[in-house]
Parts: sequence; structure tokens; C-alpha cells
Amino acid sequence: MRSRTIVHIDIDAFFAAVEELLHPELKGKPIVVGGLPHERGVASTCNYEARRYGVRSGMPLRQAYQLCPQAIFLRGNYQLYQAFSEKFFRILHEYTPDIEEASLDEAYLELTRCRPLYADFSATAREIKARVEKELGLKVSVGVGPNKILAKLATKKAKPGGFFEIKAGEEEAFLRDLGIEEIPGLGPKAQVVLRLLGIHKIGHLWGLPRSALRQLFGLNGEEIYLQARGIDARPVASFSPPKSISRETTFLEDIWDKKLLLAHLAYLSDRLSLALRQENLYAHIIEVKIRLADFRHEVKRRLLVNPIQDMMSLYRVATELFLQLFSSSRLALRLVGVKASDLVRSRSLALFEPVSERLEKLGHALDKVREKYGFGAILTAREKMLETLYPLEKARGFVLKTASLTR
Ligand SMILES: [Mg+2]
Repeated sequence: MRSRTIVHIDIDAFFAAVEELLHPELKGKPIVVGGLPHERGVASTCNYEARRYGVRSGMPLRQAYQLCPQAIFLRGNYQLYQAFSEKFFRILHEYTPDIEEASLDEAYLELTRCRPLYADFSATAREIKARVEKELGLKVSVGVGPNKILAKLATKKAKPGGFFEIKAGEEEAFLRDLGIEEIPGLGPKAQVVLRLLGIHKIGHLWGLPRSALRQLFGLNGEEIYLQARGIDARPVASFSPPKSISRETTFLEDIWDKKLLLAHLAYLSDRLSLALRQENLYAHIIEVKIRLADFRHEVKRRLLVNPIQDMMSLYRVATELFLQLFSSSRLALRLVGVKASDLVRSRSLALFEPVSERLEKLGHALDKVREKYGFGAILTAREKMLETLYPLEKARGFVLKTASLTR
């Protein structure tokens, strides 16, 4: 097989670094971006000063505060980070069309097809690093390897701010002494099992035959077997997520009843959450639209530093926006809609507190039941109100539902 060259590039402590760049007085102080200490939610990014106190991305804000009360807590400005992200990707796209946007601040670039353009891939990777750092004013870490998993592990080794390359033939030496926790497909439970067997390093894992791993971990064992050997045939997939996904309802009769409107909003949030799950996407922007009896329409949106997908989070944000719109309107409504945009597939940015991880699992469980028995098989209490408030036959003809996905 032809050898490949993949460059993985990742901005260090992205949100916090942008804040430091724009507010030099913050430099050298621990910074946590994601919310204020008393707020629910998680630390989206923390800088290296905060990490020294044990603060980590994805940690509940309250816990971050306990570990490092002197940290500067910032809610963050998603629009700003997005502008930096766009600039970041504009630079990357000058080097190769084969780019996978892993998150706002992280990408894989495959240089293999560009061989005629670049004499020396390592030099090109260093050049990309230097350009991004110069033009953005932010530190980045770069890893180069013969596939995605090795390129990403190389970046991890290079952090913060460094450059590391794994050349073909060096894979074994690189992997041997890494801890098993570096294997992406290995969950915490699997780690415990392996540690009980005395396996702590990737090198130790090589002694286990494929069949043993399959017995221990099922199908996942196969993946662990390959990852432990640095084998990864995944292509760099230039993925561009849809621009937005929305769900809206036009009523045949204008509605004034707030309870009923909120029930619709719950239903729409539920449908939207399902669509996001199906596309494996998280939304940074939530927008609520209403159309009034006189056909005017109004929109409110919120930018979220931590992207969301689950129904409860969507509904919470949508309700706040809706109530702002509704409390100032003097008319009944003809339409209500919820739209999710600025969609990302990243799990590295979409870090969840345990609660929403549970909600996410719940979402997937719901999907399974609904796949079998239809969407109406399970509804929240709020959605159920729709059925009790309208007789069912009437409800069927009562609304016009619109679903759209814009690419
Ligand atoms: Mg990063």
C-alpha cells in the first residue's frame, strides 16, 4: 500500500488562548472558559495555568472553582472563537483540499495527494504551523504520522506548542511505552479490565492475541487490537456539516395559549434533537422564530460556547428565547420554529457533564423505541398535552409541519 502522510493540527487551549490574546492582562493567570463558577455547565477550555491546579476541559464549573478559586472564569464569546476558527481553516485550505475539520480548532490534513507540490512533507507541516501561529497569534501543536491515529498521538506528544513526527517504521518504538489510556477506542471500563491483567502500556497489549481481545471486549476488541498497533485505514474525510437544521409548525388557527405553545416548542425541540442525533451533530447556535397573526415574524438566537444536542438542553434554551419573544408580543401566533445552526461533529469540544451524558444515552434509547413504534410512542408530559388539548383527529389536520436541513 502507498504510504500516506497525515498532519494533525490543534490550537492549544483554544478559547482561553483567544481571551489571552485579546486581554493581555490575563496572561499568566489561570483561565477557565465556559461559564461563571456558580453556573451549571462545564469548563469548555482551560489554559495551562489552570490545568496545573487539576482543572480539565469538560469538568463541571463548580468543581473547577473548588480546585482553583483564583482562576478567571469567563462565559466566553462563541462568535469571536468562530471568527478565529474560520481564519484557521482558510489557511489550512491553501495547502490541501483533503482536510477533515475535527472541531473548531482541530484538523487532519492529508498531504499524500499533494506529493508533487511539496518536496518535504515535514517542512510543509512546520510551515503550516508557523503560518497559523503568526497569522492567528495563537500557539498550535502539530503531529505528523502515516495515518490519523498516529498523527493525533504525535500531536498529543507535541503539546503544548510543539511539533512531533512519527515516520514510517518508527510506530512500534513510539507506541511501546505509551499508557493504554492513549488508545482512543479503549473506554474507562476496558482500561480497568486490562490493568487487572497487569497491562498498563500499549507494548504490554501486544502480547494479547486478537481472539483474547475479542473475547474480552467483543467487536470493540478488534478495534483495540488495531489501534494498539497504530493501524488505521480511515480516510481523511472532508466533511462539511449542514449549515442548519430546523423544525417548525404553522398552525391553521392562530394560538395565544402559552401552555399550548410551549408544548409545541417541546415537541419541536424533541424532533430537532432527533435530527441532530441522526446526523451526529451538536449546535452552537439556537434560534427561535415566531410568526404573529399579522404575518410579521420575529427571531431570537443564542450563541453557545458549549454546543448542545439533547432535547432537554434544546428545550431549555428555546423556552428562554421563546418567552422573550412571546412576552413582548401582543398577538396570537401563526407559527413557531426552532433552528439549530453552526453545527459541529466534534466530541472534543462538545464535552459533557455527567448529567447530559445520561441525557444523551436517553436520547439514543428513545430513538430505538421510536424506530420500532413510531415517534408518538414516547412523548414527554409536555408534548402529551398536545394530545389532551386537541382531540387527536383535529390535531392531525391542525398543523403544518416543516422540517428543513440546509447544506
Ligand atoms: Mg485544541
